[in-house]
Amino acid sequence: MGKNDFLTPKAIANRIKAKGLQKLRWYCQMCQKQCRDENGFKCHCMSEGHQRQMQVFGDNPDRFVDAYSQEFEDSFLEHIKRSHRFSRVSANVVYNEYITDRHHIHMNATQWLTLTEFVKYLGRTGKCKVEETPKGWFMTYIDRDPEIVLKEKLKSKRHKAELAEEERHEKMLLEQAERAAKQAKLGETSQQKVMPSELQRDGSADGKVAFSLGMVGPSAAKPGASQASASSHLPEGSECPKPKPKPKPSIFAQDEDDEKMSASQNSRDKDGKGAKNEG
Ligand SMILES: [Zn+2]
Repeated sequence: MGKNDFLTPKAIANRIKAKGLQKLRWYCQMCQKQCRDENGFKCHCMSEGHQRQMQVFGDNPDRFVDAYSQEFEDSFLEHIKRSHRFSRVSANVVYNEYITDRHHIHMNATQWLTLTEFVKYLGRTGKCKVEETPKGWFMTYIDRDPEIVLKEKLKSKRHKAELAEEERHEKMLLEQAERAAKQAKLGETSQQKVMPSELQRDGSADGKVAFSLGMVGPSAAKPGASQASASSHLPEGSECPKPKPKPKPSIFAQDEDDEKMSASQNSRDKDGKGAKNEG
């Protein structure tokens, strides 16, 4: 049985005494050793093992501090994520819960000298929402879980789309209102203006009428003009007598003949009547 046997009375006594939370400042991070009191810690610092560890630390202190800082931050965030994922909690509460693990990374081995400094750092780097209140610092874990991040993204996207839609709708309403106001103003001021413009339109219509009269005028005024030339200006399908192939003199002659014919018919009718009367 060795000196540090697990079941020796001294080892058992030490374990009993070591139960529960011990003074943080009597913890040696490099050796991961918790001492019960100042005297114990002094003794530990004199030990050969600790001296060796301190030499290792002294060779590259920044690397150790960085590593401890990273580990401290990770385990602290892991704890807040597990215990207070969706709630706003006091930084002190989270810290007191975090240090109940005897072998947690102690803050005095990290780059942060105080909890406030660490909390501010978390807020600055966007890992937590932090705020100072009269009751101390409060923090809310910002979830970086891919699924939650995706959900948040979708939510914000939908929210943005809704906002844009609302904005567009409001803009449209505003534009409509403006247009209505403009029209109302125009109606007030241009009631007199509208009249002249209508009169002007009437004038142009008169001109059109004059033009159409001009079209009709010449053919009507000059009976001597040929019917063929007049009919060529008229639209298709309009009822108008077809030009006769014979030259004008013959037309007039025909007309005269027609008159003569009708006259002779009349005379014949008269003759017929006269004959009937006679008969
Ligand atoms: Zn040590």
